[in-house]
Amino acid sequence: MEDDTVEPSWSLETLAIRAGHERTAEQEHSEPIFPTSSFVYGSAAEAARKFGGEEPGNVYSRFTNPTVRTFEKRLAALEGGERCVATSSGMSAILSTALALLQAGDEIVASRSLFGSTVSLFDKYLAKLGITTRYVELSDLNAWEAAVTPATKLLFAETPSNPLAEVADITALAALAKRHDALLAIDNCFLTPALQQPLALGADLVIHSATKYLDGQGRAVGGAVVGSHQLLEEIFGVVRTCGPCLSPFNAWVFTKGLETLSLRMNAHCENTQQLAQWLVQHPGVAHVYYSGLTDHPQHALAKQQQKGFGAVLGFEVNGGQAAAWQVIDATQMVSITGNLGDVKTTITHPATTTHGRLSDAQKSAAGISPGLIRVAVGLESQADIQRDLARGLDQLTR
Ligand SMILES: *Cc1c(COP(=O)(O)O)cnc(C)c1O
Repeated sequence: MEDDTVEPSWSLETLAIRAGHERTAEQEHSEPIFPTSSFVYGSAAEAARKFGGEEPGNVYSRFTNPTVRTFEKRLAALEGGERCVATSSGMSAILSTALALLQAGDEIVASRSLFGSTVSLFDKYLAKLGITTRYVELSDLNAWEAAVTPATKLLFAETPSNPLAEVADITALAALAKRHDALLAIDNCFLTPALQQPLALGADLVIHSATKYLDGQGRAVGGAVVGSHQLLEEIFGVVRTCGPCLSPFNAWVFTKGLETLSLRMNAHCENTQQLAQWLVQHPGVAHVYYSGLTDHPQHALAKQQQKGFGAVLGFEVNGGQAAAWQVIDATQMVSITGNLGDVKTTITHPATTTHGRLSDAQKSAAGISPGLIRVAVGLESQADIQRDLARGLDQLTR
């Protein structure tokens, strides 16, 4: 890594606080914001050299910006990647990756349980460019193998999945990608580098919606891609030309968010584990989907490849949609919203919101039953979250 703000021995917690900030002549302690669209030159000759790329330096904030660079260097350090390129959203991180690395005739093999907009991006917009996507069961390695063809250039997965917390074997997927001369991209939004580092497991690219846990307090929309210099130079080319660049203010919000990432993720995991264990024994609950539970089918794999089990869980109540809505509507504190990655706990009914566009058959294939509720556990007191969910759950068994 060519980041001279970083000591090779630093741990993740230290990198999250210290990496990427090049102090200016003002000797500021906290990272500054540079809200400027362009940069000036000492002479016409210097301008010519910088425009021509013969001399490094800032030209225009669609290309580079010092505040954005601090966020990029810090996230690259946390993910253990050579380079990071920040983007205006998680979706533009995925779009820029596809535009940079794929062309007409190429194929993507992706896990079935992806973020909804990612599926729309692949099926509606990449398909228009002649790039087709095949979907497979996230944890079924044979299905991945069978779906790969000579035209496959990218394997794309989100692990753990949302909302059923299935886990993919990243090491095995990386080996499969390598065997077929394809790249493996992992959307690491749900765990963040504090809990999972896909590059160390062999993935080529890590994709983030910084909107979620990197910020952690629901304040700004942004994204990023991390990987090798070679791949990221291609992705940088798309961002600088096509324009989905991150604003300096949002980059600053994410940079400050990263400083508490490990602390927050550990606290999120602890709250979620306790909530999962309480839900399991509640008579109104038929099943809990969380990889931190020992009866989860990929519990052993999750334990091996993750440093924590994350903060998103699904649970199925007895009584179908009416019962699920009753539990959601009985809450007084947790927020009824599809968002996640926030200190505030959120609750949603996947079958009628995030997965509402799927047919009944598709929902059933994806395990999205009418009684399923998703909770993204925040950092309020665990006892208060539990009490809020108990309002409706206790009614179901009365
Ligand atoms: C939110 C999300 C995205 C999209 O990110 P935006 O910042 O909303 O564009 C992509 N992947 C996952 C897993 C997400 O949760």
